[in-house]
Amino acid sequence: MRLGTGDRRLRAETSGQDEVRRANVSTVLRLVHFGGAKTRSEIVAATGLNRSTVGALTAELVRLGLIRERHGEVVGKGRPSNVVEPVSHAVYVLAFDITAAEVAAARVGLGGYLLQVRRRLHQGPLHDVAGVVAHLAMLVREMRAKAAPGSICLGVVVSVPASVRQPDGFVRRSPSLGWYETPLVELLAAALNHELPVAAGNDGDLGAIAEYLRGAARGSRDVLYVRGQDGIGGGVIVDGELLKGAGGYAGELGHIVVRPQGHHCVCGARGCWEAEIGDAAIIRAFGRNPHESDIEDVLADVATGSRRALSGVRKTGEVVGLGLATLMNIFNPDTVVLGGSFGSLFPTMEPTLHAAVARALGPIREQATLVRSELGSDAQLIGAAEVAFADVLDHPVRTIEALLPSLRPGDASQADAVGSTGEAIRASS
Ligand SMILES: [Zn+2]
Repeated sequence: MRLGTGDRRLRAETSGQDEVRRANVSTVLRLVHFGGAKTRSEIVAATGLNRSTVGALTAELVRLGLIRERHGEVVGKGRPSNVVEPVSHAVYVLAFDITAAEVAAARVGLGGYLLQVRRRLHQGPLHDVAGVVAHLAMLVREMRAKAAPGSICLGVVVSVPASVRQPDGFVRRSPSLGWYETPLVELLAAALNHELPVAAGNDGDLGAIAEYLRGAARGSRDVLYVRGQDGIGGGVIVDGELLKGAGGYAGELGHIVVRPQGHHCVCGARGCWEAEIGDAAIIRAFGRNPHESDIEDVLADVATGSRRALSGVRKTGEVVGLGLATLMNIFNPDTVVLGGSFGSLFPTMEPTLHAAVARALGPIREQATLVRSELGSDAQLIGAAEVAFADVLDHPVRTIEALLPSLRPGDASQADAVGSTGEAIRASS
């Protein structure tokens, strides 16, 4: 998938009127999807297109029901510039984030709006894949029922803490879920009677995408994202593209070895970063038993400022920083985003973290900013949604007309279908 928030290259590189028009419609839709409401004047300035072209492009997107226009306020002299904004409920994605603890589900609308979010503890044993799939299918039906009449579901995307083969979303291994060689996408698609496209992705990759497009790494080009939880989820953006690797498994940052004789890791090796500083190790660093305490207890300890808590913060920051220094040397990121438990502990462990990260090479260290995740536990949901928005952003006309044949120009049933069945998206009016 392409992650760029603009479509800058296309106007220069492609030929043919249709392709230029497709690229321009796509560019305008991306601007408001990622940047929110814009005046026509701002779109003119951002795209370099002339005013009448922008008017024709926004009219096309209004026809498709994807954006709406309203009169802007008069600022200074001259006519007010119309404001263009995405119609959040015109098209939506159902996004899931499965962790060892819970299932988070969201209906995410155009513009990246979280229209509905629900978090539920697993209702049965996690290793019972059929049971988890049935739960997801039920949530899909519930959330679709709550969607605005006539809005279009673009698909279902599931985030899992797993090695996920791409492009088919087959789960190869997930020690924290206990899933191995699991055809998650196939099972969920079947449970939904193949009515919706289904995809799956690694939680670290989707978190990286979300923070890059909409969170703490907006405007960056080279991003390292790490999410501390049971294990460590990670994702890497290199020059604006998600690093995938040969099979889609790149970014398993939790399995770099930071202490060769250290704790046994679920992967079979010893001293992996996630074995040394996953949630269980953090809880131990705070002098607690991982079977009896969780990260919330650790955060409560931090709030007390006790000596034991300060020691826990220091130990955690050192090991997190040790891994980060190695990864920074490899990827030379401009932004390092810490999510999950690392994000929760970030404010208190920041000084230790900076001291530990000083192990990275000077020129690399100077270029990298360490930041806390902005999207928190919503990151995976938002990243998952962007995967399914890609088609409509790249090919707005083709994608919407395929989903709503009544909108095709020259379709005799157009007026009637829009007027009577409510199937067409007219939310903009
Ligand atoms: Zn490992």
